[in-house]
Amino acid sequence: MAESRPTLDIVAPFLNEAPSASAFAELLAALEEAVSQRFGMTVHKILVDDGSRDDGSDRFSKALSGSWEIVRLSRNFGKEVAVLAGLDQSRGDMVLIMDADLQHSMDISLKLITELVEHLDIDVVYAQNDRREASWRRSQLARLFYSLINSSQRFDIPENAGDFRVMRGTVARALTSLRDKRRFNKGLFAWAGFRQKALPYSPESRASGTSKWSRLNLIAFSLEGFTSFSVIPLRIISLSGMLAALAGLAYGAKVFFEVMFYGIAVPGYPSLMVAVVLLGGLNLTLLGLIGEYVWVTLSESKDRPVYIVRDVVRGDVAPDKPVSGAPNT
Ligand code: UDP
Ligand code: MG
Repeated sequence: MAESRPTLDIVAPFLNEAPSASAFAELLAALEEAVSQRFGMTVHKILVDDGSRDDGSDRFSKALSGSWEIVRLSRNFGKEVAVLAGLDQSRGDMVLIMDADLQHSMDISLKLITELVEHLDIDVVYAQNDRREASWRRSQLARLFYSLINSSQRFDIPENAGDFRVMRGTVARALTSLRDKRRFNKGLFAWAGFRQKALPYSPESRASGTSKWSRLNLIAFSLEGFTSFSVIPLRIISLSGMLAALAGLAYGAKVFFEVMFYGIAVPGYPSLMVAVVLLGGLNLTLLGLIGEYVWVTLSESKDRPVYIVRDVVRGDVAPDKPVSGAPNT
């Protein structure tokens, strides 16, 4: 039997990206051509429609060429889950994950692939956003987030590295074995390990529409990162509780001595209010945080699949593949 060509799967999730559909399909075609010429690879495209409300998948079906499939999820599950749905369908020797909004250029994609092809000792090459466009405040916040979340574990989540990456098939298979329902991909990529390499890049600006990440979304997402990958907040709670108790004890001792030995009347109301409001506020905040962890435990313990597929549209010579929200069961 003739030796078969190595295969590359391109996984791209999309939500309401109809305006850039044809441009992205062109980008994919050009990338396929380049990869095929340079490395003799066969390319299969796996797009995931994450519950779009526009006619994006129709447009993609018309514009895509070669071997492709569009996995249409039953509703919007979020980008992190959509990436998993794509990975579940991939069987390639290498898998490239990229956005469908044209922010991830063909140029960088090709560089990532080249890097992985040329370095047999590396399993993953990820694009690292150099955050030239981010404000100072935002990048400081990001830095604080990473140093906090990385302060208590055996693996480090690299800063500013997203889903834009290429990996060997073994890594993709390993990732699909992690069935977290509340997914924080950056953490999962790091948790899985393997030998990873960074490639700095600046993302293109969005061709159309706006980012789906609002400020509130980002806060929720960071919380998800913490509750999935860090016990540090819980340790901070215990520590601050202990400190508050010690301070209370010291204050009580002071009052006791003042009354017993100097006969000073205790100024009651203001100090009482401060203690009540401070501790009450702290209590509520920390209770909320614990609630977050309980909520994660609850959602993970329900035996639901991570996502549900509505249907799969295939083009050209896409091989027959199983479709299921829980392929590992
Ligand atoms: N996306 C998705 N589901 C979502 C949100 C976004 O599939 O719930 C897709 C989106 O269409 C795009 C990619 O994920 O292809 C990145 O999203 P976005 O551009 O909003 O994020 P950013 O580039 O700002 O990180
Ligand atoms: Mg984007």
